[in-house]
This record gives sequence, C-alpha cells and structure tokens, in this order.
Amino acid sequence: MILLKMPAKIIDGNKIAEKILNDLKSKIKNSKQKPGLAIVLVGNNPASEIYVNFKEKTCKEVGFYCERFNLEKNTSEIDLLNLVNDLNQKANLHGILVQLPLPNQINEHLIINSILPHKDVDGFTPFNLGNLVSGNTFLAPATARAVMHLIEHTGVQIEGKNAVVVGRSVIVGKPVAMMLLEKNATVTICHSKTKNLQEHTKNADILVAAVGKPKLITKEMVKDGAVVIDVGINRANGKIVGDVDFENVKDIAGFVTPVPRGVGPMTIAMLMENTLKAMELADRIKK
Ligand code: NAP
Repeated sequence: MILLKMPAKIIDGNKIAEKILNDLKSKIKNSKQKPGLAIVLVGNNPASEIYVNFKEKTCKEVGFYCERFNLEKNTSEIDLLNLVNDLNQKANLHGILVQLPLPNQINEHLIINSILPHKDVDGFTPFNLGNLVSGNTFLAPATARAVMHLIEHTGVQIEGKNAVVVGRSVIVGKPVAMMLLEKNATVTICHSKTKNLQEHTKNADILVAAVGKPKLITKEMVKDGAVVIDVGINRANGKIVGDVDFENVKDIAGFVTPVPRGVGPMTIAMLMENTLKAMELADRIKK
C-alpha cells in the first residue's frame, strides 16, 4: 500500500484576522464610546514606520479613535516620559502603544514601565507580564495571543502535546511559552545557546519559531504532521520571509503559517482586541 503524504494546511492569518476585525467593527458600531489608541513612534526606523502605519490604518478601519505621535529621533527620555504620563491621563485614549525599538538614549524599560497597566495594550509592563505568568491574564502581548489563536484555529488539541518555542524574547518567545504551558502543553524553550536545535524541534507537535533568522527551520527539523507557527519577519533578497523554510516545510507539517499573511495580520487584530479590552477595563475602574 502506498501512503500519500498530504501537504500541510496553510493557516490563512489574513482571513482569520479579517473576521476578528469585522466582529470588532460590528461590536462598536452603535456604541457611544469608541476605543481610543495612542501610537507613539520615536525616530524613523523604516520597519517601525510600516508597522505603525498598519496599526493606525486598521484602527481607523474598525472605527476606533487613533492619535499618532511622531517624535524626533533625538527625543530625550524625559520628554517621552512626560508624553506617556500625559497620555496616561487622557480619558479618550484607552490604550498606549510605544513602538519598539526606541533610540539608544532612551531606556525602554523605564518608558514601558511608565504606561498604566490598564492602558498597556502591548502587554509588556511587568504588571501584565506578571499576571500572565500567574495565569491571571489582564492584557497579554498581542503577538503571543496571535500565535495561540492560530494554533487553536487548527482544532489541534494543545493539552499534553510537546510544544517547542524557538526564541525567548520578552515580547514573543516567553509569553508564547507561558500561554502554551497554561494550556497544558509540555513546553521547551530554545534559544541561541541551545545545543542541537533539531533534536528539540523534531520532537515538537507544536513548533513556534520567533527568532528573526530567515529559513532557520528546515524540513529536516520538523516532525511529520506538526503545527508550525512562523513569527519571523525577515528581509531576504528583497522579499519578506519568515524563520521557517515554508516551501519545503509545508510538505512535512500538518499546518503551517505563511509569511506574510500569517502571524503579522493576526497580531494587529489582537492589538485591536486589546484596545477594546482596555476601554472596558477603564470603564470598570471608573465604576
Ligand atoms: P529577538 O528579541 O531578537 O529574539 C530572538 C530570539 O531568537 C532570542 O531569544 C535568541 O536567543 C533566539 N535565537 C537567535 N538565533 C538563534 C538560533 N540560531 N537558534 C535558536 N534561537 C536563536 O526577536 P523577537 O522580537 O522575539 O522577534 C523574533 C522575530 O519575530 C523577528 O523576525 C521579528 O521581526 C518577528 N516579530 C514578528 C511579529 C509579528 O507580528 N509577526 C511581532 C514581533 C516580532 P538568545 O535569547 O539566546 O539571544
């Protein structure tokens, strides 16, 4: 008997995100209050500008209120702190997003920590990350939520599965690992000092790549039928590619996200959801 290997199902992040955004649009259409997002960009990093433009555009498309603050590259730490403090006081701006990375003269931790936890729609403050670790999610990082949403969308059960997260950044790798653990996966976190990466990835029923290295994950590193989520956004030969060698991995994996049209659009959809949640939290705090 010849067993035919089915190619992976491609997880269409664009389509899933579109549905979420349409739901948000309908939800707020008739409400008196609109969720408001402040977007702060310091300097003119081209990638940051693209991300911020997308976030601003999506915000407007779903009917949220959005205010953008473009600051000079040489903005001082104290000036940025003062702006965040002002935004913390504004009742019509429920969420504050300071686009990272910030220029060298500014301490990122200091700025992120100055955002009020209930306005921290990126979920990067110690309060929100701490809540995530304690299993009491308040506002969780959007990319990590996007990854979980895409895994859940496949219908594959997470509980009891071997999940491997490659990358341990505070904004992606660690929160994804925590969320998978919360869903009762057995989680391994790999990083640049991990010996024999393939030994770990090959054992993954669920594999999340959040590294920033084009096509690091080859088909030899993927288990047959695995769910593979590619967070990476890399520029290679004038194209945007992920951390996964998509063309070859799709013949091995059960499900795989493309780049673009995978985690990226879902991250923005999750950010919008977080902004709505921030408005609801503000209302609860007022009461
Ligand atoms: P990061 O802060 O640079 O972290 C990268 C992680 O990868 C680090 O933990 C690093 O290990 C690990 N790493 C580096 N080389 C490795 C290797 N050869 N083998 C195994 N691990 C390795 O990056 P990030 O902010 O998490 O972002 C990761 C990627 O996701 C980037 O391409 C970024 O553009 C993309 N991203 C996409 C979205 C989206 O919405 N789609 C959102 C955020 C980020 P060490 O800790 O040992 O250095």
